[in-house]
Amino acid sequence: MELGLEGRRAIVGGASSGLGRACAMSLAKEGVDVTIVARTRDRLTAAAAEIAAATGVDVKAVAVDINTDEGRRAVLAACPEPDIVVNNSGGPPPGDFRDWDREAWIAALNSNMLGAIFMIRDTIDGMISRRFGRIVNITSSAVKAPISILGLSNGARSGLTGFVAGLARQTVPYNVTINNLLPGDFETDRQRSYTEALAKTQDLAYEEMRKVRMADNPAGRFGRPEEFGDCCAFLCSVHAGFITGQNLLIDGGKYPGTF
Ligand code: NAP
Repeated sequence: MELGLEGRRAIVGGASSGLGRACAMSLAKEGVDVTIVARTRDRLTAAAAEIAAATGVDVKAVAVDINTDEGRRAVLAACPEPDIVVNNSGGPPPGDFRDWDREAWIAALNSNMLGAIFMIRDTIDGMISRRFGRIVNITSSAVKAPISILGLSNGARSGLTGFVAGLARQTVPYNVTINNLLPGDFETDRQRSYTEALAKTQDLAYEEMRKVRMADNPAGRFGRPEEFGDCCAFLCSVHAGFITGQNLLIDGGKYPGTF
């Protein structure tokens, strides 16, 4: 399917690895010029070179913390009029809510709720005036089925989801959509560190724990980042202008509900 994205411009957060990188790659394969963001410069520069070599599009790399005002300013200086924004950065740490003070909560809200909201605030009016915009927030399956040790994620991401639900109905008349992609278990660096931590608590080797976790999924495996990236590219396409305010779970069927 031709996605109609040739020559568009995208900002993709958290894109030196994992799901963000996969979204940048899928968009770039469709001819989108991408501005990719992550904090660690060498890994980001390497990802930019790989995406450019694989696709031939213009790839800009901005090494900043996307959840700070200075970071967002630097990203918008590199790509002032994005047609597409993929909001993404790291997830908050696991733990027990009794141990989280105000500072821990504010940090989680900043990374997993306010960062995306401020990026939307800074880009949406331009999209509305140009009558094309696609915003995709990478959240988590934890929004739909909370994961007990990830309370910071359950809480902060649900806040973003509620905010987006209201705003997405106001922007769609101008061909500007906002949707959330909810990853289940995908084969990324974060997945690896999460599985390692879980293995320690259950006194299992990493590979054993990984097998147990994969067997727990109806698909019998973790998701591949490129599967996630291609879903993101479709949501950004010209064909997806009637899809807004949605939460698309990509989890191999792990969530057990009918809806
Ligand atoms: P990942 O492989 O660890 O990649 C995270 C990327 O984000 C890296 O490029 C990282 O680079 C960058 N990053 C982190 N914090 C940043 C910040 N403040 N500013 C700019 N860049 C930042 O993680 P992932 O698995 O792709 O996960 C992406 C998101 O999906 C996370 O929020 C995660 O919690 C969520 N999620 C993932 C899964 C899964 O199975 N993988 C499941 C549910 C939810 P630097 O560290 O160099 O900045």
